[in-house]
Amino acid sequence: MQLYSTKHSVPNVSFEEAVFKGLPADNGLYMPTEIPQLPQSFWDSIEEKTFQEVAFAIAEALIGDEIPSADLKEIIDDAVNFEAPAVKVKEQYYCLELFHGPSLAFKDFGARFMSRIMSYFLKKEGREINILVATSGDTGSAVAQGFLGADNISVTILYPSGKVSPNQEKQLTTLGQNITALEIDGVFDDCQALVKQAFLDKELNEAMNLSSANSINIARLVPQSFYYAWTYAQLKKEGKPIVFCVPSGNFGNICGGMIVRNMGMPVEKFVVATNANDIVPAYLETGEFNPKPSIATISNAMDVGNPSNFPRFLALNGEEYSKVTEQVLGTRYTDEETKVAIKEVYEKEGYLMCPHTAVAYLGLRDYFKETGSQANGVFLSTAHPAKFQEVVSEIIGKEVELPEKLAELDKREKVALPMGTDFEGFKKYLLERAKA
Ligand SMILES: *Cc1c(COP(=O)(O)O)cnc(C)c1O
Repeated sequence: MQLYSTKHSVPNVSFEEAVFKGLPADNGLYMPTEIPQLPQSFWDSIEEKTFQEVAFAIAEALIGDEIPSADLKEIIDDAVNFEAPAVKVKEQYYCLELFHGPSLAFKDFGARFMSRIMSYFLKKEGREINILVATSGDTGSAVAQGFLGADNISVTILYPSGKVSPNQEKQLTTLGQNITALEIDGVFDDCQALVKQAFLDKELNEAMNLSSANSINIARLVPQSFYYAWTYAQLKKEGKPIVFCVPSGNFGNICGGMIVRNMGMPVEKFVVATNANDIVPAYLETGEFNPKPSIATISNAMDVGNPSNFPRFLALNGEEYSKVTEQVLGTRYTDEETKVAIKEVYEKEGYLMCPHTAVAYLGLRDYFKETGSQANGVFLSTAHPAKFQEVVSEIIGKEVELPEKLAELDKREKVALPMGTDFEGFKKYLLERAKA
C-alpha cells in the first residue's frame, strides 16, 4: 500500500512508514493512493466465509504487498478474536454489535490490530517503542487493552486524576505487564500538553523511541472496514440492499465502511448520525465545513467539534460536495431524543442500547421515514450499554448490570503513579525509565 497525504505536500509513504509516523509532516492524513477492488467472486461467496476470513481478504488486498500472507493471517486471527453479530432488533433494523472485545467498544478493533501490526514490524527490525497516550477515558482503555502484552512496545497512559469514571480508571490501571498508568494531578488538557511536549523534546527523543497510538493512524482505520463486509456476509442471504447508520464523532468508523464500499461492496446509503456536535450533518446540508468548540452530551465519545477524519471522509466520497451528498445523509439528535429512543426500544423490543447506539438507531429511523426505503438497515452499536451504566440505568429506571469483563476489573487493585503537571518531572521519570 502506498499512501499520500491529504494535504499533498509530502512524498508518498509505505504502510509501515505511515503506521510509525502516524501523521504526515504537512499535518494532512494518510490515505491509500489506490483502493483495490475485490473480485466479484469474493462478494458472490462471502456468506461461506468466517469473520476472520473476510477480514483477511480485505487486509490482504490493502496491505498484502508489505506483509506475507501467513504472517498477515496470524495477525488477523489474533487481532479479530471476538464476534461482531448483526442482531435483528425488529423488521428492517439490525444492530451491528461491535462491543464484544476487551474494552466493550468498537475501538478494540483498531487498537488490537494496530498493536499487532506495530509489533510485527518492530520485531522484524529488532526495535522497541514507547507509546504515550493522553486520555479522558475511552481511548485509553481501548489502547491499554489492545496493546496489553504486545511485543517490543511499552505503553504509558496519562489520565487526569478524579476526572475519569471509577470503572474507566480500573481499565487503565489494573492491567500491568507493558502498560503503565500515570495519574496526573490536573485535567485532560494537562495530560495532552505533557504528551505533546514530550514528542517535541530533543533529549527525550534521543533517549527513547516515542510513538503515539493516535486515532487517525492508518492501522486503526483498516480493521474498521472488516465488520462492514462481515455485515454484508451475514445479511446477504436476505437479498436486500443495505443501509449503514454510523454514530460518528471523529468519523474514523464510517470511513472504514466507505473503504469496503469502494472495494466493491454494494451499499444503498451511509447515514451519519451525530449528537449536538453536528459539524458534518451541517456540512451535508450547506456545503460548509465549520468546526466549533465541542458541546457536552450523553453520547460523549462523539463530542467532537472538529472531526479529525473529515479529509478522509471527503476523499472516499469523491471530494466534491455534490458527490458526497449523493452517497451520505446527515442526521443529528438531542440528548432528549436519544433518551426517548433508549427507553422506547428497550420497552418495545427488549433491546438495550448505549447512548451512541441510540443516536445511530434514530438516524436509521429517519432515513426510512424520509425515503420509504425497503432496505435492511444496520445501525452500529459502538459500545456496550453497561459502559454508560449511570445514564442508561436512569433512563430505563432499572439498574444495568455490569458484564463480567468489567465487574471482574472492579476487584483488581489499582496501580498508578501520581504525577504533577510540570513537564520536567514527567521528563525525568521517562528518562529514568529509559535507563532502567
Ligand atoms: C469513538 C466512539 C464513537 C465515534 O467514533 P468515530 O470513529 O470517532 O466517529 C462512537 N461511539 C463510541 C462509543 C466511541 O467510543
